[in-house]
Amino acid sequence: MAEVLLRQVVKRYGAFQAVHDFDLDIAHEEFVVFVGPSGCGKSTTLRMIAGLEEISGGEIQIGSRVVNDLPPRARNISMVFQNYALYPHMTVRQNQGFGLRMAKRPKEEIEEKVNRASKLLGLREFLSRLPAALSGGQRQRVAMGRAIVRNPDVFLFDEPLSNLDAKLRGQMRTEIKKLHDKVRTTVIYVTHDQVEAMTLADRIVVMRDGRIEQVDTPYEVFHAPASRFVAGFIGSPPMNLIEARTVADGDGISVSAPGWPALPLDPAIFGQVGPDRAVTLGLRPEAIAPERMAGSMARPLAFNADITLVEPLGGEALLFLKMGKDEITARIFRPSTRLAPERDVRFVVDLAEMHLFDAGTGARLN
Ligand code: ATP
Repeated sequence: MAEVLLRQVVKRYGAFQAVHDFDLDIAHEEFVVFVGPSGCGKSTTLRMIAGLEEISGGEIQIGSRVVNDLPPRARNISMVFQNYALYPHMTVRQNQGFGLRMAKRPKEEIEEKVNRASKLLGLREFLSRLPAALSGGQRQRVAMGRAIVRNPDVFLFDEPLSNLDAKLRGQMRTEIKKLHDKVRTTVIYVTHDQVEAMTLADRIVVMRDGRIEQVDTPYEVFHAPASRFVAGFIGSPPMNLIEARTVADGDGISVSAPGWPALPLDPAIFGQVGPDRAVTLGLRPEAIAPERMAGSMARPLAFNADITLVEPLGGEALLFLKMGKDEITARIFRPSTRLAPERDVRFVVDLAEMHLFDAGTGARLN
């Protein structure tokens, strides 16, 4: 069993604190992705788990062993980096077997493991080539092969796909997912790419300024972001975030935002939100559509808006709308007619898809 536990883990570089009281339990065979903007402490946390960076406080356990003072080679982890770190003078076969040779494993065992990993990763025809004679994707596969042959308890990936072009990145993402299904090892994966996080993770850890903002399944992180920061970071195009207020409205409570009609709240959340409060209203682009193209919505509310710009994307289109001083985005699937800028178009928004955040703290209210 290779669960990974982080307890109050801290990292300081002199006076600067890069990671604050990081607490996380990663289950055996779980695929966990750390995601967040540049500088939020993802790589530092991963490198502390790997033992490449000392921790300034707290405790790290791998497979119920405290590893704080163990060197990387004693932790039974394998790490795949973004620059692959292959030895240029060694063939694919030698690169993959290197760690096992250093560990003085018998020749037959090395050959057997290298062959198995090469088969799994589609590398058999490249075994005698040098890294220079491989494509970026093939090199990345060799780096993964080298990690697999060591049979680690935990795989650590640090932005492994960021040097690949968009198409290859998509293909390799699928391969990593399939690999995890076959190899069933605990994986901790760092990326700043939220699409990678959404597609690969069992659970996503969204980080900001060295702290955890939310740990949850991709579904929950997308549908119930814990804060305005997570709401704005996860989702492409990003969620529309609109400064608004809640107001008493007869027996009910509505959200009032410049340019919008009153948006009545579901009575079930009156208690959590309350009237007369500064809020940030979050609406995903998918929750807004021209009335004539809207599919079924749980709580539709009609309004009028000007379409200022249309971005056709083939199977879908983005519409930019002017609402008060805000510009908001609507995302339309399978647009049935040609869309163009147009004034005073009838739209609908799904009130069941409203996200509300405290305007001050950014914490989720509903
Ligand atoms: P990126 O996506 O850009 O790689 P990241 O989330 O992985 O970012 P880290 O590399 O973990 O971020 O860095 C976290 C913070 O710690 C940053 O502000 C960085 O400048 C700082 N930092 C990292 N290494 C050191 C170091 N050796 N000395 C001082 N500060 C450091």
